[in-house]
Amino acid sequence: MTQQGKGAASVRPGLPFVEQSGFEILGEEERAVQQAMHKFAREVMRPAGIAIDKLSADEVIAQGSPYWEFMATAAASGIEFDAASDDVPPQELAKLQAIVVEEFGWGDAGLAVSLAGAAFPNMMAKRAGNQELVELTAGKIGAWVATQPDRGSDGTMLYPAERHALAPQGNKGNLTAKISGGDIVINGQSSAWVSNGPVAQVAILSIVADYGDGYFDSEGHPHGVEVVVPLDLPGVTHGKPLEKLGKRALPQGELFFDDVKVPVRYAVSLGDDYWHGHASTWSTAGVAMGELMTGLARAALEYALEYVHERRQGGALLAEHQMVQSRLGAMARKVETMRALARRAAEYTALSPAKHPYYTGGTKVTCTDLAFEVADEALQLFGGNGLTREYPMEKLFRDARAARIEDGENHLLNMKFGYLNTQLYKGGRVGS
Ligand SMILES: Cc1cc2nc3c(=O)[nH]c(=O)nc-3n(C[C@H](O)[C@H](O)[C@H](O)COP(=O)(O)OP(=O)(O)OC[C@H]3O[C@@H](n4cnc5c(N)ncnc54)[C@H](O)[C@@H]3O)c2cc1C
Repeated sequence: MTQQGKGAASVRPGLPFVEQSGFEILGEEERAVQQAMHKFAREVMRPAGIAIDKLSADEVIAQGSPYWEFMATAAASGIEFDAASDDVPPQELAKLQAIVVEEFGWGDAGLAVSLAGAAFPNMMAKRAGNQELVELTAGKIGAWVATQPDRGSDGTMLYPAERHALAPQGNKGNLTAKISGGDIVINGQSSAWVSNGPVAQVAILSIVADYGDGYFDSEGHPHGVEVVVPLDLPGVTHGKPLEKLGKRALPQGELFFDDVKVPVRYAVSLGDDYWHGHASTWSTAGVAMGELMTGLARAALEYALEYVHERRQGGALLAEHQMVQSRLGAMARKVETMRALARRAAEYTALSPAKHPYYTGGTKVTCTDLAFEVADEALQLFGGNGLTREYPMEKLFRDARAARIEDGENHLLNMKFGYLNTQLYKGGRVGS
């Protein structure tokens, strides 16, 4: 036995090993990627996001703004949202992607979504194996156009049985395509929420389509098309950038289409393949949301840890009070939970022979609700300072709030995950 007081430290457990991202062991390459992305997130993304957050929506997209400076720096550094590579097995790639996107979310969630939206048409063209579209979308700022003024959550309704009993058919929305003679002709407008809408050069549209027999099938469910559209075509107009709460570094706004014509070969999914295509595209987005909001929550936790080691109340640092330690413990548990779930969703979506956006929608709900709880509690630990623009918390709180509506509103996604579970039960896949 060691003598009391002498060498006592050596018989107590030391601090555990942790990575930048907490309680896990990364491979050498993973750690190198994480460190490189963290440097970019810390030195470029975070200061840019804070500066852009203070601007009006018009100022964000004005020539020479910090937004454009950020996009140019990201492009020049070869920083990409899509880590696709033929050389890396899908499971490893999914983890690498999760590591990268978490760092982006740590840097700035709005800019992370802007990078994601920018890469989205190109990612989907690669998935479809359409080389012409891969080249057409490469190096351009992209956007994903799914929601419209009258078709928000309804665009996420994959099955006729989800429709309300009083609705004879689905919702066509305000942006539709007519497909005939080898062409796709697009008319109408998107919602004001399209990420990168005001700055995008190319978009992937997921919209209702008429193949010559009307917009609806025999079950009253809409037909659809996923199509890539260059936004410099005649008939395309960009709307004004949207003033909003949260993710202010992300330009959002409407896109208008007046008889915009593209060849059918620009479609990524078409006819009977549409709903599968849309489901697959949406799964990709849901996975990314979980990963990047893990980064935001980690940033909130770290800011809170820093603050409680500076602020004294009750005769001690906040960090020395047990109640504060308990609150920090709850926050840290949530961040660990989010990361584990986001990685699980990424791996499942990369490997599953039949992935599903109602599952990734469910994981998105967990991650974004937990991110909001962590940001809220971090703000609370700052006391009154949490509410002022001089401290970082009110921005993170606003950014976290937006994510509970983005990429599917959370109550609705919860309902969809529940619906999916009832279908799995009926299909004998659970409960047997
Ligand atoms: C930061 C951010 C980024 C976004 N980026 C994009 C983008 O890149 N591209 C894009 O196309 N869109 C984008 N959106 C739009 C987003 O996908 C929609 O806002 C979201 O899907 C909800 O649609 P909505 O706003 O029309 O709400 P609504 O669908 O009108 O929902 C309003 C309320 O009604 C409830 N509700 C709706 N339907 C039902 C139902 N059937 N049963 C019960 N309750 C229901 C919902 O739960 C919700 O609380 C973005 C939004 C945000 C906030």
